[in-house]
Amino acid sequence: MALALALHGGAGLIRRDSLSSEREQAARIALAQALDAGWKVLTKGGSALGAVEAAVVVLEDAPCFNAGRGSVLTQGGGIELDASIMDGRDRSAGAVAGCSLPRNPIRAALAVRDRSPHVLLCGPGADAFVQEVGLDQAALSWFLTPERQTQYARVAERGGVSLDHDASSRDVFGTVGAVACDRHGDLAAGTSTGGMVNKRRGRVGDSPILGAGTYAWNSTCAVSGTGHGEPFMRLGVALRVSMLMELRDLNLACAAHQVIHTDLPDVHGQGGLIAVDAQGNVTMPFNTGGMFRAFRTATDEGVEIW
Ligand code: ASP
Repeated sequence: MALALALHGGAGLIRRDSLSSEREQAARIALAQALDAGWKVLTKGGSALGAVEAAVVVLEDAPCFNAGRGSVLTQGGGIELDASIMDGRDRSAGAVAGCSLPRNPIRAALAVRDRSPHVLLCGPGADAFVQEVGLDQAALSWFLTPERQTQYARVAERGGVSLDHDASSRDVFGTVGAVACDRHGDLAAGTSTGGMVNKRRGRVGDSPILGAGTYAWNSTCAVSGTGHGEPFMRLGVALRVSMLMELRDLNLACAAHQVIHTDLPDVHGQGGLIAVDAQGNVTMPFNTGGMFRAFRTATDEGVEIW
């Protein structure tokens, strides 16, 4: 089977003239490191699920992206992390929303899938679960970066709620995600985020919602989205790509293109997605100024922004 791995580090305005070369470099390096981590799992015969976890952990630990370390701040200056992961073999999944303890929220999502009878845990209950199963935890000081505090102050001052990239495309990047196809043709998808800058406490976006920000099924595709979460949830973006393939017989690229360039604009949604199918095809459409993204297959690879 054709191995494939695709990643994103968020979509948004991302103006060329306001993204410093240092920040651009930091994002490109983190994406390349995450590609290597996920690819290593795939080439050693590991599962798509393992590759997604490995790649997302690297992106969560990179302070330049809005997930794990470097997550954006909520109203009041806190951190509320959302993540989900889905296995295309049996459509089993796990997710956490509004938690603040796990150092790597994608691992908390995976633990919900593996070690609980549930799919989605939120808030203090999710944090209690993280403690109970003994996952790595981190203090607020680990997640907070000076760039995020400055960004939050700027957005909070004008009373707005903003996509990471649109809030200050000069300083910061975005939500992260990964999709993979392994040597058995098994698919998986994962997404992790701090959400929107200055979001209301308790606000949950699309990233931890299966079918909205994340979806995986071997018969169709694995999808991870990024953008304004509210339209993504109303449209069911990730499941919609899968259903266009299943019920309308569209191929991966056509289905993803329709959702991002026709259906999402219909509900005034901005963003993008990465997707793979069981033949190892990759597509990465977006309707914003840019999307931090990377992919690797047996024959090709790339790290791109615009
Ligand atoms: N989709 C995320 C959310 O709405 C934000 C992002 O993709 O940057 O929480």
